[in-house]
Amino acid sequence: MNGNQTLLEVSGLVKHHRSPGGTVRAVDSVGFEVATGETLGLVGESGCGKSTLGRTIIRLHEPDAGTIVFDGVDITHLGRRALRPVRRHLQMVFQDPYASLNPRRAVAQILSEPFEVHDVGDSRDRGERVRALLGRVGLRAEHASRHPHEFSGGQRQRVAIARAIALEPKLVVCDEPVSALDVSIQAQIINLLRRLQAEGGMSYVFISHDLSVIGHLADRIAVMYLGEIVEIAPRSELWREPLHPYSQVLFSAIPVPLAPSQPRRLRVPMIGEPPSPIDPPRGCRFHPRCPSAMPRCRDEAPRFGVVSESAAGPRRVACHLFEVK
Ligand code: SF4
Repeated sequence: MNGNQTLLEVSGLVKHHRSPGGTVRAVDSVGFEVATGETLGLVGESGCGKSTLGRTIIRLHEPDAGTIVFDGVDITHLGRRALRPVRRHLQMVFQDPYASLNPRRAVAQILSEPFEVHDVGDSRDRGERVRALLGRVGLRAEHASRHPHEFSGGQRQRVAIARAIALEPKLVVCDEPVSALDVSIQAQIINLLRRLQAEGGMSYVFISHDLSVIGHLADRIAVMYLGEIVEIAPRSELWREPLHPYSQVLFSAIPVPLAPSQPRRLRVPMIGEPPSPIDPPRGCRFHPRCPSAMPRCRDEAPRFGVVSESAAGPRRVACHLFEVK
């Protein structure tokens, strides 16, 4: 954490999905905090539960256990009506803006909707607000009359971001928001998100499988494996020296160091495929693929705890190789 006030505090969060093959343990006893104005990056292989976690913390999914405290309020079990005023401060940007924007509605209608739903301003005032929003995300006033299919992928994502920030939210969960875009467009959208954060002071939970994207945005990074967070640390520390064996594998695969002064890492090969989240391994869930596994790792789940503290915040790891507090 960066010393700012805690905005979001998640503890012991569990979200399981029923499926024909059994219960998918998508999120299993996860805990972390996000400070005001901070970006927490959430990384891990596809299917590790990061999208489910992102949706659960803003209550798009109902949690099965644990607590979510947002801005000092326990929102874990708030009903629809009580959640309504909180919702405006919890927004989400999805990977595919084409799927998340109604194709039959013009951008003016899409961007007016949050104001209508939350009863903000009158119809004339909303037109002004829409124009201002378009300007903030780098689009022009005449774009208001167009429909989503008339935009490029990057422009569509700008519309989706404009909708997410319309009500000046305190937290935006960005779920792979640039992974469907060309690399040059990715950089533009990342810069836009950074600028909007600098202007508005909002926090991001930024979900990505792409560590180089996370490296440009995150203040801290949480590494997720098979429904659990296995390491969480300030970005520069994790980048310099990942501690958890799974983090070491992930970070060794980054082709380019974050800064030219950083040494290239030796690539650590990943062993095998991730096990099924329907029937995760006993003990440490990473043990069948871990190059450092010991006999106790097969039976005893490691405790997630603090291994070091710095000015940038505590570093937490779940691994028997480390003494945790
Ligand atoms: Fe590897 Fe054991 Fe640490 Fe799990 S607890 S990451 S198996 S060393």
